[in-house]
Amino acid sequence: MLQGKTAIVTGSTSGIGLGIARCLAREGAAIMLNGFGDAKAIEQLRKDLAAEFKIKVGYSAADMSKAADVAKMVADATRDLGTVDILVNNAGIQFTASVQDFPAEKWEQILSINLSAAFYAAKAALPQMLSRNWGRIINIASAHGLVASEHKSAYVAAKHGLLGLTKVIALETAKTGVTCNAICPGWVLTPLVQKQIDDRAAAEKIPVAKAKQELLAEKQPSLEFVTTEQLGGLAVFLCSEAAAQMRGVALPMDGGWTSQ
Ligand code: NAD
Repeated sequence: MLQGKTAIVTGSTSGIGLGIARCLAREGAAIMLNGFGDAKAIEQLRKDLAAEFKIKVGYSAADMSKAADVAKMVADATRDLGTVDILVNNAGIQFTASVQDFPAEKWEQILSINLSAAFYAAKAALPQMLSRNWGRIINIASAHGLVASEHKSAYVAAKHGLLGLTKVIALETAKTGVTCNAICPGWVLTPLVQKQIDDRAAAEKIPVAKAKQELLAEKQPSLEFVTTEQLGGLAVFLCSEAAAQMRGVALPMDGGWTSQ
């Protein structure tokens, strides 16, 4: 379905981004990977993805906390892969502390990676999407874009902000073939969440398996993690013709979290 299209997926060396990149690749899209990690492992991942799906795969080491890096990533993808038709703003980090204990530099870092990077990437990619009258911008927000939890001020603020940005881009592109929507995952078992499970196990002096159950029971009625494959399926749907008139929506995939 996506043959001839090119997708940038930020933060795709791990977790949800990698799952989405794989699903877009399976549909034939060329992929620009991005994210941190061991250089050799990333190069292997790039080669494996290219071989498995017989597509072009590039890699950008751009740091999403730096506006100039974000713009360069879009320019590099255009140069190396030809176009940028799909932009998945996924890179994100977490840090937990009460507001009074929240380090200012962590606040700035989360706002820049989880929110501002999506603005800079969209700003850089939109002109060419509009010139071809086709594009898909998919922002990976969170259940925390719709509801809050304590100790996550920066993350919740950034994700709520990302939904606002999604709506504005959707309105500004409403009369075109470019759409912008957001996906709001609940708990997904990725390194970002594993750290929260490990921290909880250490703080409560309980086994990791128990901490995992508690984490789900607290928020996610299904008591099951959302998978990166399921999120990838939704991203593919948003790239399809069937989704052409979905504009500015926030789609929860959260095991019932935000239905409560
Ligand atoms: P992850 O830690 O597994 O992956 C994060 C990715 O972002 C990695 O590839 C990492 O290298 C990259 N990254 C981090 N900082 C970066 C930077 N400055 N520049 C470029 N890349 C950077 O996390 P994940 O759970 O897959 O999260 C992906 C997105 O999904 C995030 O935006 C997160 O907020 C969101 N999300 C996750 C969950 C969950 O339960 N895991 C739930 C809701 C939303």
